[in-house]
Amino acid sequence: MRKNIVIICLIWTAITSGSFFLNYKNALNEERLLSLQTARSFFQQIVLFRSWNAIHGGVYVPVTTDTQPNPYMQIPLRDIKVNRNLTLTKINPAFMTRQVSELAMKKDGVKFRITSLLPIRPENKPTPIEETALKEFETGVMEKGEIINENSRQIFFYMASLKTEKSCLPCHAKQGYREGDVRGGISVTFPYTSQSHISATASVHLFMLFAGLFGLIYSGLKLSKAYDVIKRQAVFDALTGIPNRHSFSERIFTEYKRSLRDNYPLSVIMGDIDNFKLYNDTYGHAGGDECLKSVAKIIEATLKRPGDFCARYGGEEFIIILPATDNEGAGLVAENIRKNVFSLNIPHEKSTHEKFVTISLGIATKNNDSTMTSEELLKMADDALYIAKEKGRNRVEVFNG
Ligand code: GH3
Ligand code: MG
Ligand code: MG
Repeated sequence: MRKNIVIICLIWTAITSGSFFLNYKNALNEERLLSLQTARSFFQQIVLFRSWNAIHGGVYVPVTTDTQPNPYMQIPLRDIKVNRNLTLTKINPAFMTRQVSELAMKKDGVKFRITSLLPIRPENKPTPIEETALKEFETGVMEKGEIINENSRQIFFYMASLKTEKSCLPCHAKQGYREGDVRGGISVTFPYTSQSHISATASVHLFMLFAGLFGLIYSGLKLSKAYDVIKRQAVFDALTGIPNRHSFSERIFTEYKRSLRDNYPLSVIMGDIDNFKLYNDTYGHAGGDECLKSVAKIIEATLKRPGDFCARYGGEEFIIILPATDNEGAGLVAENIRKNVFSLNIPHEKSTHEKFVTISLGIATKNNDSTMTSEELLKMADDALYIAKEKGRNRVEVFNG
């Protein structure tokens, strides 16, 4: 039973640990997916704005300290001087992306970078991770999203490819790109902070684990106690505490077989308290119970050999098994029981033959060469007991068949 409790507790521990790891892993996956979707949507927005810019062939903005003409854009009418105070310069999609990225970086820590394996502007040279992604795009991979460590911080890195559109060709055809070619990519990075707190998931699961273990151990121990009681009740007599008739039936079966196998004599003694009905009538049922307990105790105490066995056979009847004991030896044991019961000095004023409680005993022995069955052996002991009663009680009789 206790072994089963330990096994069930181990299973429960395995289930809760499994659930913890699964839940935590799922939460991390969900977060990763959310970051991926966020990055994708940033990317799509930037691509949309770039398309708008490209459709217009670039847009003009005033030249300021922060927005200087793009030296890499060698096209006619790149700059238009409107008047003394205002010069306009053309912003192409790449320049626009860079400026939006700087803005986003200041606001939310989100960084966009347009990059290519063949950048026009050297600053657009890819970082190692971007370069790996760009090479993968050339093999058909469309996007990449992963959590990386940068300066001991976790960063979500996303990158998707940029396809050459018709509106890109005026600037990029000279690099050899044709419409539909992967021309580069835009990477989106932002700080990644996990919201799936390991401690919260762990404490819920630890609570589950300990509450479950407590419940299992508590109910397991209760069950184990109840099981012990039931087991004891099945084997021992509730009143006297000595083995019951069921135990006797099992024991006689084993001892009988052993006596045959090892070829030794087997004796049984059947004992019955004399005039017990009268005892009950005189001292009450509770008094009778006390008497039964005392007699059972003294019979048990009289048996000396480890293999000797006694049981309550019926109401006020007891049975004793004496393995490897011949008729003579059994006679000595029976006589000792008789004397010891008498020596208890339990008053029995209505007894037909003594003033104290006495017991009559019948002995039967199966000798080595005998072919008698265990049932026959018991019947013989019972017959001997009957004779002891007939002959006046408080005596031992040996069956002489
Ligand atoms: P005998 O000397 O011939 O054996 O007579 P007896 O009165 O002992 O035998 P009998 O079989 O007539 O009566 C046995 C009595 O034992 C009757 C029954 O009430 C009593 N008895 C059986 N079991 C119990 C028990 O558990 N407790 C008590 N107090 N009495 C019991
Ligand atoms: Mg009886
Ligand atoms: Mg009796």
